[in-house]
Amino acid sequence: MSLEFHLLSGGSITIHTPECPSCESKACVKVCAEQSPGPVLILGEDGRPCLKPTLTEIKRGVCTECLGCLLECGIHGNNVVRFQAPLEGLEAYLAEQEAAGRIPIYRQDAKQVEST
Ligand code: SF4
Ligand code: SF4
Repeated sequence: MSLEFHLLSGGSITIHTPECPSCESKACVKVCAEQSPGPVLILGEDGRPCLKPTLTEIKRGVCTECLGCLLECGIHGNNVVRFQAPLEGLEAYLAEQEAAGRIPIYRQDAKQVEST
């Protein structure tokens, strides 16, 4: 089960939440609490991030797309946040970089992150 929400840019963020209860840092929630106009992600009683604003509010721009949740989860969490951006040519560029061994941290699995 995943938490997915759509963004003003036309992109989306997906969090694979089954991995979240075991995460000690809850880094996504902490970094999101520091964003303006206020947190999008808050911690649910089940130990998983959930949404404070409505999906409509998020799509209108409450999520500033700072990508702090993606980066912090990649570094301090279980690396389960994914961002889809509607940028023409981005996927081709990333595929080229990955073929050359340069994999962005958010596209690495947890073992790859630990070894870097
Ligand atoms: S930091 Fe990552 S693994 Fe931890 S609770 Fe947030 S999304 Fe889940
Ligand atoms: S991109 Fe930034 S504002 Fe949006 S949910 Fe993640 S941390 Fe919060």
